Amino acid sequence: LRDYSRDNLRWNGWGAVDEEYDFGGRERDAWRFIADALEMEALPATPALELEEVPLEATTLSDDELDQLAALLDDERVCADRYQRLFHAVGKSYYDLIRLRRGAIEGAPDAVVYPRDADEIAAVLAFAAERELAVVPYGGGSSVVGGVEARPGPEHRGVLTLDTTEMRELLDLDRRSRQATFQAGIYGPQLEHELGLHGMTLGHYPQSFEYSTLGGWIAARGSGQQSNRYGTADEFLAAATVVTPRGILRTRDYPHSAAGPDLNHLIAGSEGTLGVISDATVRLHELPEMRDYRGYLFRDFDSGSEAIRQIVQAEIPTAMIRLSDADETRFYGAMATVGKPESTKSKLTDQLLGATGYGEGRCLMLLGLEGDAEQVRYSQARTLAACVRHGGIPIGSSAGESWFESRFRSPYLRDPLLDRGVGVDTLETSTTWANARSLHRRIREALRDAIAARGAHGIVMGHISHTYVTGTSLYFTFVFPRDLDDEIGQWFEIKRAASDVISAHGGTISHHHGVGADHVDWIEAEKGELGIEVLRAARSGVDPDATMNPGKLLP
Ligand SMILES: Cc1cc2nc3c(=O)[nH]c(=O)nc-3n(C[C@H](O)[C@H](O)[C@H](O)COP(=O)(O)OP(=O)(O)OC[C@H]3O[C@@H](n4cnc5c(N)ncnc54)[C@H](O)[C@@H]3O)c2cc1C
Repeated sequence: LRDYSRDNLRWNGWGAVDEEYDFGGRERDAWRFIADALEMEALPATPALELEEVPLEATTLSDDELDQLAALLDDERVCADRYQRLFHAVGKSYYDLIRLRRGAIEGAPDAVVYPRDADEIAAVLAFAAERELAVVPYGGGSSVVGGVEARPGPEHRGVLTLDTTEMRELLDLDRRSRQATFQAGIYGPQLEHELGLHGMTLGHYPQSFEYSTLGGWIAARGSGQQSNRYGTADEFLAAATVVTPRGILRTRDYPHSAAGPDLNHLIAGSEGTLGVISDATVRLHELPEMRDYRGYLFRDFDSGSEAIRQIVQAEIPTAMIRLSDADETRFYGAMATVGKPESTKSKLTDQLLGATGYGEGRCLMLLGLEGDAEQVRYSQARTLAACVRHGGIPIGSSAGESWFESRFRSPYLRDPLLDRGVGVDTLETSTTWANARSLHRRIREALRDAIAARGAHGIVMGHISHTYVTGTSLYFTFVFPRDLDDEIGQWFEIKRAASDVISAHGGTISHHHGVGADHVDWIEAEKGELGIEVLRAARSGVDPDATMNPGKLLP
């Protein structure tokens, strides 16, 4: 298991300090390919500031106050040093990292505290309330929507960031009911390790799995890559304990209840604004007996998405169906082969595919099945038939298996891109099947146009990755030359253009990243004025002074 001590992790990037993206010895070719794809003559060197160079105001907490906090916890679990404060200042979005790298963050916590249980959390919240400090709950800090940004509310004199990662015990495993209770600060790998010892899994594997926590998954209402089988955070949450400024809110683990609205649904997606989730009971699965990840090629995005719609609506069990659009298929295909000599066989295959209609527009689908062998075989046969019916060509298991093996690796590529003047960001939404095609097109256009508005050529790629009977998620990655004179302004323009389109054309502002600070401007259009009032009322019921994570989720 990893060492999650904060000084072992990058304060301004992804992963542990000694983890690097593996280019497989083809680094130079990869950079040449990216520069060409972005129509850049050369990639400029844009190194990040060193920790010591980032401007940071002194903490507003006096030594006395820090001592009082230390008396509530202990010395080691109260930190106000530069490293800890900058580490916890923001999350891990592109916008967060460019600000950290150029020393342009708006603030940092005055101190970071590491409670170990609900009583210690309650003591910290009382301390914060007495001294007019906002409290920001922080798990892995992998939020990409400004969810952990250290912002005070208008009434606060400063910010305490409450890091939950000292709370990582398995509290109870109820095998008979197939559920377990963990403290909320446990990281993904440790949680799955503990469950694996008992032949169980939660099956929640977001791409950030290695560096995110159970509490963050629930608070941000996230989705793992295999959500088709294992469910989204709101679905696997059975019960939780939330320490709020007004006391403990505890929900119960009924399998279902008709006793009014389910409070778990208020907790899932609460983004730290109600209080701190100190533990959670989650619904488990047996470890799958068999995994099968394989690929199909489609002529275009529409035929691939039609195949998916039919698979999902026929209720054929799958763990994951992921369909890349043509630009994403091309980009990842090229990245996988760049710097390798092209074999005659692959040249011929390419020509043959092109001649039969699977040319520039072709799209790769990765289909993942998990479960017992009989179930997997059933789904293999039925998904194969559905794909072939829509012109899908089965290409075997190598693309699927290599995706599975490297499924947590691409975030490590972002830091080296940022070192070379290249921006890369992602955003996501979901919508009905009836609207998916047009929304996919509109978002792509909005992203392309916003990047082009600064005279740059970007790569805009999309895919489907979480699917439902009534609709699908749409996920976009965009890579672009940064405007080094105004990279923050450039990001705002791109973000606003895409979010406006999503909001105006039937998409949710977030399928799984959450609202945080970055999506607040669009939440009222989605929930309605009265809907926002309902959420505000719920919040003020537990946190009348809006101490918890101000500026996030609610405008
Ligand atoms: C490279 C990368 C890939 C990602 N891929 C995915 C993905 O595939 N699926 C997905 O769903 N998300 C993904 N994300 C987003 C992010 O990882 C998720 O939102 C994740 O659930 C956050 O968990 P965390 O522990 O890091 O929470 P944090 O980032 O620390 O916090 C997220 C939010 O939850 C609140 N919070 C955290 N812990 C608690 C607690 N115990 N009690 C109350 N509030 C709390 C915070 O205040 C904040 O508002 C990705 C992010 C990155 C950087």
